[in-house]
Amino acid sequence: MRGNTLYIVVPCYNEEEVLPETARRLGDKLKALMNAGKISPRSRVLFVNDGSKDQTWAVITRLHGENPLLCGADLSRNRGHQNALLAGLMAARDKADMVISMDADLQDDVDAADAMVDKYLAGADIVYGVRSSRKTDTFFKRTTAEAFYRLMDLLGAETVFNHADYRLMSRRALEGLAQFKEVNLFLRGIVPMIGYPCDTVEYERGERFAGQSKYPLKKMLSFALEGVTSLSVRPLRMITTLGFLVFFVSLVMIAYNVGRWATGNTVAGWASLSCSVWFIGGLILLSLGVIGEYLGKLYLESKGRPRFLIQEELGLDGETEKESLTDC
Ligand code: UDP
Ligand code: MG
Repeated sequence: MRGNTLYIVVPCYNEEEVLPETARRLGDKLKALMNAGKISPRSRVLFVNDGSKDQTWAVITRLHGENPLLCGADLSRNRGHQNALLAGLMAARDKADMVISMDADLQDDVDAADAMVDKYLAGADIVYGVRSSRKTDTFFKRTTAEAFYRLMDLLGAETVFNHADYRLMSRRALEGLAQFKEVNLFLRGIVPMIGYPCDTVEYERGERFAGQSKYPLKKMLSFALEGVTSLSVRPLRMITTLGFLVFFVSLVMIAYNVGRWATGNTVAGWASLSCSVWFIGGLILLSLGVIGEYLGKLYLESKGRPRFLIQEELGLDGETEKESLTDC
């Protein structure tokens, strides 16, 4: 039987305006789940202050004083959403049996947590919160975000469609995550790599309760680039494909140019010049592709990701094995 201590991890950057309301709703949710007997009384909400410039940490300190179910962790400086989230997950890892991560701005429906906990209790290790609709997002945010998921897919980065960072993870999933040592973090791409039984919960994403988005277009674009480059080496592979393509075309062009030259249909110097341009171009791209292939391998090696995680073992316990052998 798995334990049922829940931690809700919330990264916060300049969120003083929404925090009191977020804390109230999450505190109530925790109490309701405790009263229903679904989670243990040791469950907590953990706010991670990501080096905010406003009064966020002071607000968290005050909230903790008022309600001991609300805890806090203060990062030494701003390290970005993904790092703040990871810090919270790792801090909660040995205290919790399951952790739900969510944003501070109440865009994620707090009530979807019930279904997540139910699915954990039914055996899932990872439960992804998936947005059922993006009605409240602006047309721009919706189309750019959906284009982003499609592009990621095309470039070889596997992600769960319309899932951001609202998810539940069991302790063993967190232990799996801890083995991914990479510094360039793109959690929503790494989590599916962990494996284990997973499930999804649909919810409607609302509007930000208060304050401004901490992801302006510039940050969103760099986040997208981070996602592609940290998950996949397909862009490098594309150079190799292009190299082969141009090299092949160059062979055709050489044959054509030599044909023109042989039939005397050219100006002096044109055939040799044109052949060189195509051939050298193809050769350069092909060589870049070869370098890219090695670079890609080196890049993936340098991440030191776990190659496998064992889900279950049967009869691998040394003691039992010996005992059963002496028995017979
Ligand atoms: N956040 C953070 N550090 C940062 C930027 C954002 O911890 O450097 C947090 C922020 O407080 C929020 C979450 O990341 O809880 C998501 O940010 P936001 O809601 O502004 O993004 P959006 O929903 O607009 O994409
Ligand atoms: Mg938000």
